[in-house]
Amino acid sequence: MVMGDIATGTDVLVVGGGPGGYVAAIRAAQHDLDTTLVERDAYGGTCLNYGCIPSKALITATDLAHDAGEAAEMGVVADPEIDMPAMADWKDGVVDQLTGGVEKLCKANGVNLVEGTAAFEDEHTARIAHGGSGQGMETIEFEHAIVATGSRAIEVPGFDFEDDPVWSSRDALDAEAVPDELVVVGAGYIGMELSTTFAKAGSDVTVVEMLDGALPTYEDDVTRVVTERAADLGIQFEFGEAASGWEETDGGIVVTTETEDGEESSYEADRVLVAVGREPVTDTLELEATGLEPNEAGFLETDGRARTDVDNIFAVGDVAGEPMLAHKASREGVVAAEVVAGEPAALDYQAVPSVVFTDPEIATVGMTEAEAADAGFDPVVGQMPFRASGRSLTTGNDEGFVRLVADGDDEFVLGAQIVGPEASELVAEVTLAIELGATLEDIARTIHTHPTLSEAVMEAAENARGQAIHTLNR
Ligand SMILES: Cc1cc2nc3c(=O)[nH]c(=O)nc-3n(C[C@H](O)[C@H](O)[C@H](O)COP(=O)(O)OP(=O)(O)OC[C@H]3O[C@@H](n4cnc5c(N)ncnc54)[C@H](O)[C@@H]3O)c2cc1C
Repeated sequence: MVMGDIATGTDVLVVGGGPGGYVAAIRAAQHDLDTTLVERDAYGGTCLNYGCIPSKALITATDLAHDAGEAAEMGVVADPEIDMPAMADWKDGVVDQLTGGVEKLCKANGVNLVEGTAAFEDEHTARIAHGGSGQGMETIEFEHAIVATGSRAIEVPGFDFEDDPVWSSRDALDAEAVPDELVVVGAGYIGMELSTTFAKAGSDVTVVEMLDGALPTYEDDVTRVVTERAADLGIQFEFGEAASGWEETDGGIVVTTETEDGEESSYEADRVLVAVGREPVTDTLELEATGLEPNEAGFLETDGRARTDVDNIFAVGDVAGEPMLAHKASREGVVAAEVVAGEPAALDYQAVPSVVFTDPEIATVGMTEAEAADAGFDPVVGQMPFRASGRSLTTGNDEGFVRLVADGDDEFVLGAQIVGPEASELVAEVTLAIELGATLEDIARTIHTHPTLSEAVMEAAENARGQAIHTLNR
């Protein structure tokens, strides 16, 4: 169909169909607001199509292959092989199921779906450019807009994502074959997750990182568990080196790096994955027509209710700033929609969990001990190592620990740092504890199922109170 110039009106225009945008649109429609969601690429956004979901699918599949190959001690003897096209098909099937589900949910809730790229004409009008078969322009007038345009991978000078051997995280997740040698630039969470995945799939992985360590936002003892395991998997770390360029050789490519002192090194590879961070997407929106300006870092600043400086325009998700996480995007989407609907909703960031799906996983929420001290608390800390957990030993994964941080006066739980098996699931208990204002005593006196990994959370609470049974109290 070729669309001509048409003009429509809507109560709420949501720009971007990722976990920020589609959740905002559904919640707005649930409040009986006439809601239009514009998406230029694929429903589900980065998260479902090029991020959280495909990466976790590949992590699960490569973990399975790797663990089966390492299970001889448990009496399981296997020599698994990775069939990359089959693995990619399975991953794509998961993605398709979820993105199709988003579209259906939006429609079932009465959200009007529009495919195209949105740009503002003023603070109550947007122009939608339809690409592909439905070419043409559409003008939409809106009472409120929720900008949820997300983020994209940052390019490093000299590494153009258009070039075949240079991978963005999105290219890596679409890999049709496992490279024999992979250089990963960046040891943040995306670089570390994908390094582990490809190492388990059989690549020789070298990680090049400008800083002097991996995952710099986490405490040293947390990161150490992961980097030691990564080294066991054969991942080679080159810290203090910035990637400066690459060139083709007879057999593949050579990636060059430079230290601060100008010392050069080079690494042979088949592919180079650049994962140095993500930047907000605001450039196609013509925001100046609304009077709205991104801050120096390119993000749209919001108040505690997801409102921007322009009264009727809201911003949620990656475009609204750190932490760039899907669940934070969705929460902001819900709040923006509820505020538009006149509800007394507001954002609260005291318990935003954050997970790195490495081997083992890292999950944190709330404050570290140092952050609690900086905030004026007199923190107490309790720790439970997984090697003292019966369930952990039965899974063959006993590295890492659960650490709880609480206020020394009244024992309110302030935060947790978990590194170990199923950290991504265990952190939910502490997140809820913080949300509910629970104390160490509440967690310690809650009967946890035996034998489970979650007992480690209870034991860490007991340890903080000097009452641990299965570890020595500090
Ligand atoms: C490899 C990788 C792994 C990740 N893993 C995790 C994880 O495990 N857990 C986690 O919490 N987060 C993870 N993330 C981050 C997560 O994907 C983002 O935080 C999340 O997708 C942000 O949601 P959003 O709705 O703000 O934006 P996005 O998901 O980026 O969606 C924005 C949408 O807006 C559309 N859009 C942009 N401009 C326009 C326009 N002008 N008109 C119309 N449409 C437009 C885009 O096409 C896109 O679909 C990962 C990211 C990557 C890259």
